[in-house]
Amino acid sequence: MSAPTPTTPDSPASKPSNFLRQIIEHDLEDGTYAQRRWAGSPGDAAHHAQGTPDPAKIRTRFPPEPNGYLHVGHAKSICLNFGLARDYGGVCHLRFDDTNPEKEDLEYVTSIKDTVRWLGFDWQAHGTSHLYQASDYFDFMYRAAEALIEAGHAYVDEQSAEDIRLNRGDFGKPGVDSPFRGRTPAENLARFREMRDGRHEDGAMVLRSRIDMASPNINLRDPAIYRIRRATHHNTGDKWCIYPMYTFAHPIEDALEQITHSICTLEFEDQRPFYDWLLDRLCEGGLLAQPHPHQYEFARLNLTYVITSKRKLAALVNEQRVNGWDDPRMPTIVGLRRRGYTPEAIQLFAERIGVTKSDSWIDYSTLEGCLRETLDVSAPRAMAVLDPVKLVLTNWDELMGANFVDSCSAPVHPHLPELGKRQFVIGREVWIERGDFEEAPPKGFFRLFPGNKTRLKYGHVIECTGCVKDAGGQVTEVQARLLPDTKSGTPGSDAVKVKGVITWVAVADAVCAEVRLYDRLFSDPQPDAGGKDFLESLNPDSLKVVTAFVEPSLAKATADDKFQFERHGYFVADNQDHAPGKLVFNRATGLRDSWGK
Ligand code: ATP
Ligand code: MG
Repeated sequence: MSAPTPTTPDSPASKPSNFLRQIIEHDLEDGTYAQRRWAGSPGDAAHHAQGTPDPAKIRTRFPPEPNGYLHVGHAKSICLNFGLARDYGGVCHLRFDDTNPEKEDLEYVTSIKDTVRWLGFDWQAHGTSHLYQASDYFDFMYRAAEALIEAGHAYVDEQSAEDIRLNRGDFGKPGVDSPFRGRTPAENLARFREMRDGRHEDGAMVLRSRIDMASPNINLRDPAIYRIRRATHHNTGDKWCIYPMYTFAHPIEDALEQITHSICTLEFEDQRPFYDWLLDRLCEGGLLAQPHPHQYEFARLNLTYVITSKRKLAALVNEQRVNGWDDPRMPTIVGLRRRGYTPEAIQLFAERIGVTKSDSWIDYSTLEGCLRETLDVSAPRAMAVLDPVKLVLTNWDELMGANFVDSCSAPVHPHLPELGKRQFVIGREVWIERGDFEEAPPKGFFRLFPGNKTRLKYGHVIECTGCVKDAGGQVTEVQARLLPDTKSGTPGSDAVKVKGVITWVAVADAVCAEVRLYDRLFSDPQPDAGGKDFLESLNPDSLKVVTAFVEPSLAKATADDKFQFERHGYFVADNQDHAPGKLVFNRATGLRDSWGK
């Protein structure tokens, strides 16, 4: 019998495989990238040639555009890219893809960095901070464009945008060559420099690659690579009035950073031939180091009841349908965090959904299930009454003495005795859930109704005797008698058998709390699919705020602390509004899945 191969939690062998892991494992076996050199910072072929063999076995990157807050879809990409680098002795770069001058904002840069770190990842490796911004590569991109022009691979096109579009053809119709396509490299170079020098109006002309106007892949029909745009860039100011197109910039960013596996979502699959064409040309010219990076596509995350388009999320915020980017109903990471999600839960989710090459929808309950699973094993328990009505134990004074309160205790966590006990009291009056009393019980109801016996969890068995109602018929007080010698944990306490157990808090030591009961933001599982207006399926009951009574152990809670409120679900102390003396808890999730119902 051979001993099983030991694996650590983070070793690749302990993770379920997927097509990306297989590609990386093959590349490592074949030594595809073994000869690469790394000069300590991004750069061209000459720069890296001066470096040492790359200490990173693979390089991946997470390249957000700093134009919004990261959401749960980005989390999938972050866990994937940073996770693969971690598992295979590599490095993952955090790169701000800030080549579009108009949309970026420094507020987002800070938030993205915080979020990646909060999720448990780091871009520091081998003594270097692998935090980059694509706009630092503008000089090289310009140089690359000139090199393409000189080699006859690019030309300046002065057709109108409309003509360029029309002449591109379509699926069944080959494109038509631009009348400017035959210009000499010298003419093109002169024109391109005029573009750079601000001698032409915005939109007057573009630089296009020169590939194949009849290609069945429309993305290869001479795609534009530079456009004129007079806009101030947050990093480079007014240095440039021409900016590279994303499809041109992205492969170059990857190559300068010596990325090995450039992982993106499926919609970029048709761009892969251009990615390779461009890098092949720039490697041929000796500008970029070989072997160049390769692009791999995976299915983006589609989560039911959730939208992940930044533009649409921004609309929810701007139209005040939610209370900001970190509203606990938002699928942003800051929103999920405020909702009570932990990095562990999000990582578990990313692992569980895996990576595939075909689009599908993940059920929201999968995300919630991961949260429940991670919180169940760690979250302290507490009792809370969310819809309180007073229960009076009418024989208390006679049995226990007037004004007497008895002490009770319960484990902080049923499976973690080392966390100790929580203490609270019981007295003549306790708060119970309104729904735990029925004057005329439906079939199968085992909690309080006249004549029935129930246990107050961690307390005594009581027998309901009736209730008091107001003029409108609303129950204002429930009454019961306490059965002597039934206190939990005392000898003989279980002599009286009951079918129902209810949670409660004593009026004497209950603490008041605001509890925010969040539900799904949309009532349609695919709110924006097929061009639907997602604003039409907003769930009007996605937030209900109640005033609850909670047990005294919760008075010590600090922001972000998570609890299981027994019988209710998982709750987190709100990280904005919760403060000592002003308790605010958000419902993260119920105890079991209710989304399918
Ligand atoms: P939007 O188009 O709404 O602005 P985006 O997807 O373009 O969003 P980026 O900042 O460009 O946002 O994304 C950064 C990275 O996150 C990209 O590599 C992208 O592939 C990945 N990503 C974005 N959304 C998802 C998703 N739903 N599932 C998986 N990965 C995603
Ligand atoms: Mg994008």
